[in-house]
Amino acid sequence: MPPYRHRLFNHSRLLLILGLLLTVGFLVTSFISYEVSKRSILEAIVEQSLPLTSSNIYSEIQKDLVRPVLISSTMAHDTFLRRWVLQGEADVEEMTHYLREVRQRYGAFASFFVSERSGIYYTGDGVLKQISPDEPRDAWYYRTRALTEDYEINVDPDLANQDALTIFINYRVYDFDGNYIGATGIGLTVDAVRRLVTEHQQRFNRKIYFVNKAGKVVLVGNSTKALNVDLHDGAGIGPQLEHILAAESGSYQYADADGNTQILQVNYLPELKWYLFVEQGQDAALDGIQRTLWINILISLLITAVVISLAHVALRNYQHRIEEMATIDKLTGLLNRNAFTMLMKKLLADHKRDPQPMAFLLADIDFFKQINDRHGHMAGDEVLAGIAKRLLDALRESDLVVRWGGEELLILLRHCDLSEALRIAESLRRGIGEEAFAVNGQAIPVTISIGVAAYHAGETTEQAVSRADAALYQAKNAGRNRVCVAPEA
Ligand code: GH3
Ligand code: MG
Ligand code: MG
Repeated sequence: MPPYRHRLFNHSRLLLILGLLLTVGFLVTSFISYEVSKRSILEAIVEQSLPLTSSNIYSEIQKDLVRPVLISSTMAHDTFLRRWVLQGEADVEEMTHYLREVRQRYGAFASFFVSERSGIYYTGDGVLKQISPDEPRDAWYYRTRALTEDYEINVDPDLANQDALTIFINYRVYDFDGNYIGATGIGLTVDAVRRLVTEHQQRFNRKIYFVNKAGKVVLVGNSTKALNVDLHDGAGIGPQLEHILAAESGSYQYADADGNTQILQVNYLPELKWYLFVEQGQDAALDGIQRTLWINILISLLITAVVISLAHVALRNYQHRIEEMATIDKLTGLLNRNAFTMLMKKLLADHKRDPQPMAFLLADIDFFKQINDRHGHMAGDEVLAGIAKRLLDALRESDLVVRWGGEELLILLRHCDLSEALRIAESLRRGIGEEAFAVNGQAIPVTISIGVAAYHAGETTEQAVSRADAALYQAKNAGRNRVCVAPEA
């Protein structure tokens, strides 16, 4: 039989549960608040920041890009220009003058007209050249001639990579009967647009670029996307591109080549026939709250550790106190000395009112040290617990059995005179000695010695027990495994 162990609660399991509760609680709150912040940040990006950037850029470029389209349109519908062509392009100086005026008035760096009939390229400085379908640099004209729409905006590839980005508006010109007679327009640098885009990019950590209907990047800020890149080939964005262009405006998400999630806002600019792409990396936007999340988790773990340490100390002290206060001895399950002392106060008071014979038996195991030495302390514990059980079984319900000291057991026999006490003591002694204790498959023979003292009215418990102790001493001296009676006080 394993020694009887009494525990009020399982200390480490309690701490484990507490730790788990705190950790899980903290983690759940941290992650929920992270998710809430994340959602509101992403919502703000999709619903506010990106559209705002987009419309800011749009209103700024109105001036720089949309106005030139209007100017070119005015040129294409100019009565003088069309009459001059229809009348045979006679006076070159008149056309030169007209184009120079337009150029100067609107601060363009070039203004031009190319006649379909003569193939002559007029500028504000006079005749530039005769265009030819074989000349690659004249390709723009034949492209414009083939347009189904009124005009195209052409970012000049030759100048595109220099500091001053140049675009041309190529506008189709018709005579009064609607027949195509040439192309006119202005060329201008879009430095201002570029600067604006670059500045927005740097300030808000966003990428801003323009894309034409074919899905090619046509205008960028400094050092972002390469010009003329076909977005159909772009990582993440390519598969969605047709859908994005068809929808004209909307917001999207895609994973770029580095695996970062990009939030993309697209707006179609009808005047330019371009799309304005504004995008922002989600990860960079969430950097701040991610750091907060880690700090929160760290703080939570620290708090959990502190709480657990405090709880550990508190529980240990509490357990200690409880054990001190407990009335039952842990090993034997017998009354402990404290409890017995308290009980005795009441019993002695009762005895005063109604004197009934009582006797104290002090039992001590013989050669217990040897049992410990031979079989180990644990085996000794089991023997001690076994003896306690045997005594309890042999005694009456009304008798008290107390673990008095290490292996000394005190028995109070109530309503019992000295001769009866002697008889019981003898029977207990025999009961222990008769049958060896089986511990770990080994038979351990044990004997006990008992000192008996009848209680004398008026005595304290200590006095009575000390007489029983003297009797026990006598029993030990006389050779052990016997019962002796205390000398009268
Ligand atoms: P004797 O009483 O016959 O004179 O010899 P003894 O060997 O029993 O000597 P004593 O009573 O003086 O020694 C008691 C020993 O019992 C000393 C101590 O190590 C051991 N002991 C006391 N309490 C316990 C206990 O709870 N468990 C175990 N295993 N041993 C105990
Ligand atoms: Mg002893
Ligand atoms: Mg002993």
